[in-house]
Amino acid sequence: MTARLLLIGPPGAGKGTQAARLSTHFGIPAISTGDIFRQNLRDETELGTKAKAYIEAGDNVPDELTNDLVRDRLEQADCADGFLLDGYPRTTDQVRALDEFLAEHGTALDAVVELVADPDVVVERLKKRAVDQGRVDDDENVVRHRLAVYAEQTAPLIDVYAERGMLTKVDGIGEIDEVTARILEALTVRDLP
Ligand code: ADP
Repeated sequence: MTARLLLIGPPGAGKGTQAARLSTHFGIPAISTGDIFRQNLRDETELGTKAKAYIEAGDNVPDELTNDLVRDRLEQADCADGFLLDGYPRTTDQVRALDEFLAEHGTALDAVVELVADPDVVVERLKKRAVDQGRVDDDENVVRHRLAVYAEQTAPLIDVYAERGMLTKVDGIGEIDEVTARILEALTVRDLP
């Protein structure tokens, strides 16, 4: 069974955690643009150097850089039978680029999962993660900025996918296992195993 899925939700909604579980369940790679950028920052690659200031400020990395990165990744062999994108698309231009990629490859998404989480809860979660993991963009002011960027640039994509009849909303608050079960249940309703 192939599955081509998107996971959308505010910073701190738990996308990365759920993406890892869905990846195992469906046997598809979970692709997190945030993780790829952070790895490039650590490795001090050209991409990392270009993305650094945006990430540290909590701004989106420019679309062109991000779209090229995702296109290269999706063209790798392990994505042939499906993939889960976490944190992409994040802007209307990224939706356009992904649509183009899928059309060129004669394929389509199966579902878009929105992980719904209250901003106050995610700020608390991210404060805790700042202490545990020391991510440079988990500083409280940067977190608030990331939430504002999400509201402005990414939240509108939810309506785009809802209008296409692809969106399924899942409550992201609760135990990790519970949230995974909710997502799998929501996808079963959409005919994914
Ligand atoms: P979160 O969603 O919790 O903010 P991510 O790991 O998804 O964390 O993203 C961290 C940072 O990486 C973002 O603030 C942004 O700078 C950059 N980034 C990740 N994905 C994208 C994307 N699709 N487009 C532009 N920038 C991105």
